[in-house]
Order: sequence, then structure tokens, then C-alpha cells
Amino acid sequence: MTTPRQAAIQAIATTEYELNQLDFHTAHLKELFGTLVFSEEVQKARLPKPVFKALQKTIKLGAQLTDPAVADAVASAMKDWALEHGATHFTHLFQPMTGLTAEKHDSFLAPNGTGSGVAEFSGKELIKGEPDASSFPSGGIRATFEARGYTGWDPTSPAYIRESPNGATLVIPTVFVSWTGEALDKKTPLLRSMEALSTQALRILKVFGNNEAVKVFATVGPEQEYFLVDKNFIYSRPDLLNCGRTVFGAKPSKGQELEDQYFGTIPERVLACMSESEAEMFKLGIPVKTRHNEVAPSQYEIAPIFEDANLATDHNQLCMDVMRRTAEKYGLVCLLHEKPFAGINGSGKHNNWSMSTDSGENLLNPGDTPHDNAQFLVFCVAVIRAVAKYPELLRVTVASAGNDHRLGANEAPPAIMSIFLGDQLQDIMNQLEKGKPETTLPGGFMEVGVSVLPKLPRDAGDRNRTSPFAFTGNKFEFRAVGSSFSIAGPNTVLNTIVAESLDFIATKLEPEAARGKAQLLKAIQDLMSGILKESKKVLFNGDGYSEEWHKEAEKRGLPNLKNTVDSLPVIVRKDTVELFGKYKVYSERELTARYNIFSEKYVKEVSIEALTMVNMAKTMILPAALRYQAEVAAAVNATKSAGVDVSASLDHLKELAATTKDFQKATAELDHAANHKHSGDPYADAKATRDTVVPKMADLRLLGDKLETLVADDLWPLPTYREMLFIK
Ligand code: ADP
Ligand code: MG
Repeated sequence: MTTPRQAAIQAIATTEYELNQLDFHTAHLKELFGTLVFSEEVQKARLPKPVFKALQKTIKLGAQLTDPAVADAVASAMKDWALEHGATHFTHLFQPMTGLTAEKHDSFLAPNGTGSGVAEFSGKELIKGEPDASSFPSGGIRATFEARGYTGWDPTSPAYIRESPNGATLVIPTVFVSWTGEALDKKTPLLRSMEALSTQALRILKVFGNNEAVKVFATVGPEQEYFLVDKNFIYSRPDLLNCGRTVFGAKPSKGQELEDQYFGTIPERVLACMSESEAEMFKLGIPVKTRHNEVAPSQYEIAPIFEDANLATDHNQLCMDVMRRTAEKYGLVCLLHEKPFAGINGSGKHNNWSMSTDSGENLLNPGDTPHDNAQFLVFCVAVIRAVAKYPELLRVTVASAGNDHRLGANEAPPAIMSIFLGDQLQDIMNQLEKGKPETTLPGGFMEVGVSVLPKLPRDAGDRNRTSPFAFTGNKFEFRAVGSSFSIAGPNTVLNTIVAESLDFIATKLEPEAARGKAQLLKAIQDLMSGILKESKKVLFNGDGYSEEWHKEAEKRGLPNLKNTVDSLPVIVRKDTVELFGKYKVYSERELTARYNIFSEKYVKEVSIEALTMVNMAKTMILPAALRYQAEVAAAVNATKSAGVDVSASLDHLKELAATTKDFQKATAELDHAANHKHSGDPYADAKATRDTVVPKMADLRLLGDKLETLVADDLWPLPTYREMLFIK
């Protein structure tokens, strides 16, 4: 008899994959880029000039599209272009609060009344759709009598063609709102937050005499981590299949301790898969830039070049989708869960964030003239103030059952939100805080004076991997985001809290700017000094993993929200409602909806894991343990009747029987906890789940993993960590 595990290994050992799927000699990379996108170039070639201009004004400067004729012309050109690419259908793609994307396809075909059909696509169909959306989570926003949700075209994220076997689909990125106009999705609040940020950042630019900038964009480059594991293993692991992570699995003798994986040679099948994923992404206009092995075995990373936050978010969703689908073709499964395997690193998504004007000036670039420096310092201090003022809000954007295994658990970054500036910038901030003129620092001349702000070093200094929020030269890197997350949430909050800081600063500086340059610089000096005094508690350049930091952070009064349930209440706190209300990013109802949805999501995710665990315990692990126990018992009896000393085997049998018994008891307890009836109050249920189900899962896992080390290998049904991580 072979176990599913042995069958999986057998299959992997004997399957041959056709790895040479692409030929970059005939199709050059640069020719591939954007071929499936209704890009600016395509728009220019296909749209009447005034229509093209109006559309570009919307995309680049945020002007509203008011003329319905524009939408009609765009729709018509889009349809022709899509049909030429073999599309038969179009879809409004939206981002419901599940964190995934959703779509419903409509055919272009319309009967013309004479028995034949014509391909049609009107401006109205482009602008608005009405999927039957009653089954998406709304957190109470929609009662069933108002179940309608509408999708609305987002012209700032270009439409594209998704190719699939037997056809292609025109995909139109959209927002998703209720008929009362409330956001049912992740994109709408993100777009609102980008507006807020732009408005406030422009005020600061004006203070510095920049009257040309029309719009400021949040720019984002997400570095995506993931695992690739052979799909034969996944098929024989219900936990990976259902939950995306292993709920059992003993620690292998070799994990990541040799550090031989990071930046190592990429295995051939994996590389082939990556290449095809990337070629697909290129065609879709995703500017993928880097790939490499990550720290854990079978873990990798892909990073694009940054784009505006809206496009970066859409592209990251698409990137995850393309990676999942391409992996299948190579007999692999792309695991995007934050912690697929215990005991080795999990996966995150480093969210690199900055602000840029419509002409491309990066506002977090230190530059090298004092004038630029003053402006840079204002923007940089605004971010510091924002993180210091709203650490719980940032924390909650990265909260999920999956990410609980990383943040604040046995792995970093820690759940304490702090900022790493690097030695040099930290030193400058220290001087700025004191407000006294200083001079030399290793590496360059500095003046922190009333009229001349410091000349800044170009390189912000060293790296610190333990910090959740780090300045890396010309951007901040928010590292606590989980690998499976939509980056919409984290960026919505970042944009809004920075907008609030910029608003605060602009309000103080605008009157001073009117009084002349010297007055302005003096005011900046004083204001920055004051802000830094209040906010410096969030600055930390040391080891974020260390015990001392946890103590120190507590002394500084920094919140340490260790898990999802601890962090959720901030969403409906009074100051949160005020903040998001003021900048029109989320209404109170929208916040309450999210609070409920995230609570429910937590309960559902943990419950699925718990039930999967119980199922595996009963139907896979226990049978293996009992079979082996019978085998050992038989051996003990036979040995004994042969008159040989059996004390060692008897001890083994006893340990096995005792562990199995405990395992059965723990299974029953988890079963009971996981099937406990919910109260109906989402947050109360989340709390109960954390306090009753999660600990029982940990107990059961310990025993299951112990059995894995006791039971005969040939009887063990589940692919082991060693196999899943190292057989490629
Ligand atoms: P590092 O290795 O220092 O983190 P990289 O050059 O690899 O830097 O960049 C990491 C990510 O940060 C990339 O996705 C990159 O495009 C992005 N990035 C660079 N500059 C900016 C910026 N101004 N705004 C947002 N993201 C940026
Ligand atoms: Mg980085």
C-alpha cells in the first residue's frame, strides 16, 4: 500500500515538465511590454484627439470626466481594440472587501433583431455595471432590500486583455459602491485617500513657492514574497489546500539555519515558472523588475518598479493572480499565505511608499540644496508625525489571522510600530529637534540654523531589517504588510494620516510664507522642532526583535497590539472616525462595516483552520498512529513470547499510546471549541475564537507533531516539511 505522501513523491520524481515555453529571441522583452493594455499609446492612436485629451486629463490630473460623449468614444475604441485581441467578453473587475478581486463577464454580443448579432459596447456599459453583489461582505452596509452594488469605471487604471484558453476578456478596473454611494470595496477609499493626500501636499508645495504642481501622487512599489511548492504535495495536504498553510508538520532537521537559500541559485523549474509569470505581467504592463530567492527554503520574492498607489495596488492584485495561475502550469502551487510553514520565515509584502508631483518630483528625495532640504524635511517630518500619532491605525491595516503568525509572534517585524531613519538622518532630526546651530558630522558639513537648513547626505545610511517602517533613501518602506494582503488598505491609511500631518503643517506655515522667506524658514525650524519633540518616541534605530526594545517601547508609551483581535477596535474609535470623516476617506458606517467584516473574516479563517485540523487529526494522523501502535504492540507480544527482553519497545509503546491518547483528547477539545455557536456579534466572536480556539489549535499541533516523530515513516500519510520544502 502506498500512502498519498509516497504517491506524491513518486509523481514528482517521474514527471517531466516542458520548461522551454518562451523564446525571447523571437519576441523581445521590450516588445512584449504593455501589449495587452489599453495604454496611453493605444488611446492616442485610436481615440479622436479631444477625447484622448480629456481622458488623459482625468488620468494624469484627476479632472472629472463629465461629457458622456467621451465615454462613448472610449468604449467604442476599447471594444474594437479588444475584439482585435480576440476578446469575446468584457468584465468590470472590482475589489470587494474579501481582499481579492471579483468579476462577472458579459459578452460583447447583442442580437440585432434580424436573427444575427453585432458586437456592442456603449459608454454606459463602460462607466457603470451592476453585478449581483448581494453575496459580498458588506458588514451591514447593505440590507437585503438595498442589496444592489454598482461598479464604476476607474479611468486612472487602464483596461487590459486577459488571455485564457479558448478566448480572451476585456478587463475594466472599477470601484464598487452601494446605491447610497458607500464604498463596498478597497479601491474607492484608496482613491479618496489619494485625493486627500494630493490636496494637502499641494498646500505645502505652494508654501515653498511651487505653483506649477497640479497633483501629488502617492507612489508605491510592493515587494512580494511567496512560496512555490510542488502541487502533488498540496493535493495530499488538506491544510495547504484549504487554508494555504500547514496546521501540522514537525520541524525538519534542516530548515533555513544554513542561510544557504537567500539569494541562492534559483531552481530550474522555478526559474522557468518565474520567467513565464513575468512575461505575462510584462504584457499586462506590470513593470516587474527583480526576482530572487528569499530566506526560507522554497521562498522567493518579486518586485516591480513603483507606480502611483492605485495602479500599484491593481497591479499587485494582478501579479498575485498571474503567479498563481502560472505556477499551476509548472506543477507548482504559489502559496501567498503569511505563514505556510511554522519554524521558518513567513512571507510579507514590503510596501515602499513615497509622494511624487505630477511632473515626477519625489517629495521624499533629500536633494542637495538647502531649499530642497527644507521641503524634504517638512515632508519627512510629516510622515514621522503621522506614524507617531496613528500607530494603531497602521497596525490594524496589517492585521489578519495569517499575519498574526508573523507580527508580534516568533518573527518580525514586531507589532510595535516604529520608524528607522538610519544614523545620519536620525542625527539630523536630533539637531533639528534641538534647533541649535551645529556643525560637522562624519560624512559632511552641516548647518542647522535659522536661515539655512542642513545639507543632507545622499545615502540615508544602513539597513535595518527589523524595523516595521524604515526610511530607505528616498521612500519609506512599510514592512509589516502580509504577503496575501491587498495593499489598498495600508496605503489608504498611510495616505490619510500623512495628509492630516501635512494639513496641520500647512495651516501653520501658510501665514508665515506670506511674511517672507526668512520668516518662513524660522517658522519651519520652530515647527519641526516642536513636532519632533512630540513624535520622537516613534523613532528607533536598534534591533526591533530584542526584548529590550519591547520594554523600551512600553516605557515610551508605544502600543504593542500583538494580534488581530487586539488591534481591530481602533477602527471604530472616535478619533479614527473623525480623522477619516474629515478627509472624506471613510464614513462612520463604512468604518463600522470594515470592523465587522475584518472580525468575521478572522473568525472564518481560524474556524476553517480549526476544522481542517480536526479533520486531519481524525482521518489521517490518528489512523496512522493507531496502526503503528498495533504494529508495535504485536511486536512487543511476539518478542515477549519469544522470551526476549522487551523493555525498550514497551517504553516506546507506552509513549506512543500516551501521546495518542492526549492527541485524541486535544482533538475532541478543539472540535468542541471550533463548533461553539457564535453569538452573532462579530467582534465578540473574534475575541472568543482567539481565546478558545487558537490555544487549542496550538495544543493539538504540538501533539500531532510529536506523533510525526514517533510513528513509522512508511505509515505517515502527510508530506513532511523536509519533503515539501526541499524536493523540487
Ligand atoms: P531597496 O532594495 O533599497 O529596497 P529597490 O530599488 O529594490 O530598493 O526598491 C524596492 C522597491 O521600492 C521597488 O519596488 C521600487 O520601485 C520601490 N521604490 C523606489 N522608489 C520609490 C518611490 N519613490 N516611491 C515608491 N516606491 C519606490
Ligand atoms: Mg526593500
